[in-house]
Amino acid sequence: MSATWESSLPAVIGAKEAKALERARGLRTVGDLVQFVPTRYLDPQRPDAMADLVVGQGAAVIGRVVSAQSIPMRNQPRRSRLVVSVEDDAGGRLGVVFFRTFGHRERLLPGARVLLIGTVGEFGGRPQMTHPDYVVLETPPGLDGTAAPGEGETAGAAAAPTEGLIGLYKEVKGMTSTQVNAAAQLALHALDSAPDPLPPAVAAEHSGLSALEAWSALHRPRDWGHLGTARERLRFAEAFELQTLLAQLRRRRENDPATPRTRREDGVAAAFDAALPFPLTGSQEQAGEEIAAELERTHPMHRLLQGDVGSGKTVVALRAMLQAVDGGGQAALLAPTEILAAQHHQSLVRMLGPLATTGRLGGGVEVRLLTGSMTTAQRRAVLLDLVAGQVDLVVGTHALLEDTVHFHDLALAVIDEQHRFGVEQRDRLRAKSDPPPHLLVMTATPIPRTVAMTVFGDMDVSTLTELPAGRQPVTTHVVPAGNARWMGRTWERVAEEVRAGRQAFVVASRIDAATEDPEQPAPIDTRGGEQGTLLGGGPEGEGAAPALPPALGVVELLEELRSRPELAGLRIDMVHGRMPAEAKEAVMSAFAAGEVDVLVATTVVEVGVDVPNASVMVIHDADRFGIAQLHQLRGRIGRGGHPGLCLLVTHVEGGTTRERLDAVAATTDGFELARTDLQLRREGDVLGAAQSGRSGLEHVRVLDHAEIITRAKQAATDYVEQDPGLTGWPELARAVEARRDSAEWLERS
Ligand code: ADP
Ligand code: MG
Repeated sequence: MSATWESSLPAVIGAKEAKALERARGLRTVGDLVQFVPTRYLDPQRPDAMADLVVGQGAAVIGRVVSAQSIPMRNQPRRSRLVVSVEDDAGGRLGVVFFRTFGHRERLLPGARVLLIGTVGEFGGRPQMTHPDYVVLETPPGLDGTAAPGEGETAGAAAAPTEGLIGLYKEVKGMTSTQVNAAAQLALHALDSAPDPLPPAVAAEHSGLSALEAWSALHRPRDWGHLGTARERLRFAEAFELQTLLAQLRRRRENDPATPRTRREDGVAAAFDAALPFPLTGSQEQAGEEIAAELERTHPMHRLLQGDVGSGKTVVALRAMLQAVDGGGQAALLAPTEILAAQHHQSLVRMLGPLATTGRLGGGVEVRLLTGSMTTAQRRAVLLDLVAGQVDLVVGTHALLEDTVHFHDLALAVIDEQHRFGVEQRDRLRAKSDPPPHLLVMTATPIPRTVAMTVFGDMDVSTLTELPAGRQPVTTHVVPAGNARWMGRTWERVAEEVRAGRQAFVVASRIDAATEDPEQPAPIDTRGGEQGTLLGGGPEGEGAAPALPPALGVVELLEELRSRPELAGLRIDMVHGRMPAEAKEAVMSAFAAGEVDVLVATTVVEVGVDVPNASVMVIHDADRFGIAQLHQLRGRIGRGGHPGLCLLVTHVEGGTTRERLDAVAATTDGFELARTDLQLRREGDVLGAAQSGRSGLEHVRVLDHAEIITRAKQAATDYVEQDPGLTGWPELARAVEARRDSAEWLERS
């Protein structure tokens, strides 16, 4: 019979199977079943070893029947079960049990060689399969022709194929894996074709298989190569759908209007460049050029600026902001925390030097800060000057997003550490100007290229690939917290640095034993929470095993350090998020001025803090931080002319958490760490949480399938170029529409 993708299953595969599939997996149509592909494949030429079977997993084994016994049921003596013992060539044993013996006893005779496929269970501490599918490969010697089954009529619940690979499906109650496969075969045979999001020309160029052939191969591949080709087609199609959506978004933005902000030879940007105390790195130059050219266009820039810790993103952003000012507009820099906003404000003012004046009369660049902790009067003054156009650059926290904030002419919105903001917040800032401002978002840590291409695929990306000259290497070691000698040595190292004229950071994961750090967005257990983002770098959770001693807080650490003989005579102080703003500032400036030797702090020092004289950092309970965060933290040292030393103190001795710390100790390359981070997490979490949206990718894994993603992006961009409305291939239009619905984060980005 012939069927379509939408045909309902009972008519095609039979009522009983259809019912089981719907009940267990919600499969209703031929298409549903075809897309229900095996999760695992076995090569009958290379069966699983019986000695290595894992309880709960599907397995295929080959062995000889050693014994087969019918054992009467205790309370129903007329019925019996069949208990078979099978041994493979390596001497491993597997028990097999049938509660309905009919037909099996005659076939599973001692001496028969059999292929068994089923889920591994356990009985009496030994592996056992209940009602597996099986094929008798050889009958016992001397019985040829008497009890041997004919081909295709083997006696398992269904005949297991012996050709090609065997697909094992997720469990379907009431059906064996082989029966599911048989049903899928029926469905596939009934189809003439399968829907294909790939336009014919794209399909022809990128795969040798039709969509139907690919689905067929996924259910019954001839060999691993055949399976690989089929999977690749599926992945490519999926990547192509997403990239088509992204290409459309990019194209649509191409048509949005924006006010061009042209460079001026006599402008503040040029004056700033002329006064820069250092040469820009090559990639700062290049990113700067990309941004400058885009600001001059009549369409809004939508760009991601990424680069490793210390690669100098702020200067690049400031140069863009100054171009906005030269173009007659204002620029806003949005930062996630008060401390960070204050630091940005300070460093902008410092970098601008004489170009920043207080008061407009000098004609300089007016930079202001807007945060939630300012008094109403202070805030009102900023708001008035903003709307009057008296302020050129404003740095702020979420306070910038409030409805009361109006700009005279917002030309450029810069968002630092974009991962701490949602799309909504980004939009609120963009909505403060009509036409919308140019947008530059910055990441705190690097993102692997393919992640950028999927999660940020609608943006253009500038990458800072090098660190400014003069940055010193930071050496990192993991220190076992329980080892008194090592800890003593740790504090001695700190004292040595101070005696050499340097300064030290000591970082704790919380304020005191009772209080988590409010500035620390990713406390202990982020599993399943939304904090475990790729970029936020929250720890995995399992590291904070209950057996570990509680983490030390800043307050306790300060006390301990002040009493340690190794540190006697050193000036030690602390800073954390619960201190009043002025107190925090006082300590920070004392540290910056070299009046404090050792600063005990929470992650308030994570980003932006710039004290070039600091050369050593001890991170206590380092297991409580994610990879990205540790990398960000240690970016605070080695900024002057002195090599840095970072010591990760932990009670954790093994597991993923320890791997995370070892990875941070092993390399200072942020891009490599970002990869490791992704690998140590479940990828779904990463994409699920990044941008608080979903990529909706089922088959493509961004780390493993870089080549496919790159190819799909190119193909999709080309296709959208010649068929922007996707009218030439409605199946693609439908697939992209469905993807858009599930990716609401894209819709508004
Ligand atoms: P990040 O990319 O981590 O935000 P920053 O913008 O904070 O890095 O820059 C780190 C430090 O490097 C700052 O002190 C900044 O002034 C300095 N810096 C930036 N660019 C250069 C350069 N080209 N040469 C020397 N120092 C630079
Ligand atoms: Mg920065």
